Amino acid sequence: MTALAMDLSSAGLPPSALPDDATVLAQVAIIADGPLRNAAREIDEGHYPLEIMTALGGTGALGAHLRHNGGRLGLAIAAMQTASRACGSTGFLMWAHDVCGLYLEGSDNPALSSSLLETHSAGLTFGGTALSNPVKAVAGIEDFLLRARRVPGGYIVTGALPWVSHIASGQYFGGMAGVPKADGGFSHAILFFMRCDDRIALRPCPRFSGMEGTSTWSVRFDEVFVPDAEVIADPAQLLLGRIREAFILLQTGMAMGIIEGSINDMRDVEGQLGHVNRFLSDRPDELTGELAELRTRIMRLAETPEDGSTDYMVDVLDARCQASDLCLRASQSALLHQGARGYLHAAAPQRRVREAHFAAIVTPAIKHLRWEMARLLRDEVPA
Ligand SMILES: Cc1cc2nc3c(=O)[nH]c(=O)nc-3n(C[C@H](O)[C@H](O)[C@H](O)COP(=O)(O)OP(=O)(O)OC[C@H]3O[C@@H](n4cnc5c(N)ncnc54)[C@H](O)[C@@H]3O)c2cc1C
Repeated sequence: MTALAMDLSSAGLPPSALPDDATVLAQVAIIADGPLRNAAREIDEGHYPLEIMTALGGTGALGAHLRHNGGRLGLAIAAMQTASRACGSTGFLMWAHDVCGLYLEGSDNPALSSSLLETHSAGLTFGGTALSNPVKAVAGIEDFLLRARRVPGGYIVTGALPWVSHIASGQYFGGMAGVPKADGGFSHAILFFMRCDDRIALRPCPRFSGMEGTSTWSVRFDEVFVPDAEVIADPAQLLLGRIREAFILLQTGMAMGIIEGSINDMRDVEGQLGHVNRFLSDRPDELTGELAELRTRIMRLAETPEDGSTDYMVDVLDARCQASDLCLRASQSALLHQGARGYLHAAAPQRRVREAHFAAIVTPAIKHLRWEMARLLRDEVPA
């Protein structure tokens, strides 16, 4: 048994079906502040923490946002924040896993929306999301990298995605492909379920500066047949329209956790360095206040993810943008507060700076969020 597995078993977490919010968060905190905190460095260096994900699944945190569990989006975000204060990579895996759960829940195929969703939300099977490119393609930022051609009984999908996380042989993900028209444009896009079997090739990505434990692969589709039963939404836009707010809001859990971890790093050296650190800006008390305000706003937004209005969407995009900005400021400030300690290769502030930059560039990146807000506000106010 590895040290990590022993840590997890000694946390003594009981299996639970539909526990209340406080119980879920208390159990996630036991994992975050124990085994996950101890493993954060190992994960940063490339360990893919499926044993932690299984433990998190056992708390109910990975299915909390789903309709059949009461649609507790705020709880899923709070759980992700709690895990991310220990390890941003694990927070990102939770996000990818949660979003994949939304795709499965949206399928008409009971093998996906019932049997697989059950094991998925319990953290017994794992899968991620490959929607960065299509989300940008739908927004008009770049072209679809996957193309789907209609054939009897399904679609043939071709193309390659540069990076998809939380996948491995036997796992799965939700992907999206554009359906080309004769004139070179796209008639629409489909959202489909893809199991990582010998139909697709997973290739290693170049080494990233962080997030190395997220099992991120480049995926090649060479004329892959996707049967109708595994097409989750055709056209995809209908389902995407229903889940896009949850997709974006869930990411704020990762950002808020990195902010919280950074504040903890600052407080850790307050006794020794507070006399000189008080000359820095973005001090822990200031950031704690800003985080509390942001969290209140996010939790309010998480109560009405199906609002559907433009004002609500702009508010969601703005909150996500604010979370990324604060994440960058907090992680940089933590490093300045810790000085040489924080500059050590294995130091937590060093890792959090890289995690925070990931929170700022993962789709929708800050630049994409601002593009989308500008577009929505332009539509609202006719020239
Ligand atoms: C560690 C990591 C994990 C990720 N996990 C996922 C995931 O699970 N699912 C998912 O859908 N997306 C994933 N992404 C992609 C991520 O969400 C962003 O789309 C990506 O970081 C680029 O976003 P951008 O908007 O800043 O595009 P830009 O950086 O502005 O790039 C524009 C386009 O060029 C492409 N590009 C840039 N550099 C390269 C390169 N070296 N090789 C190939 N293409 C390149 C980008 O993919 C993008 O399409 C991951 C990225 C990283 C770094």
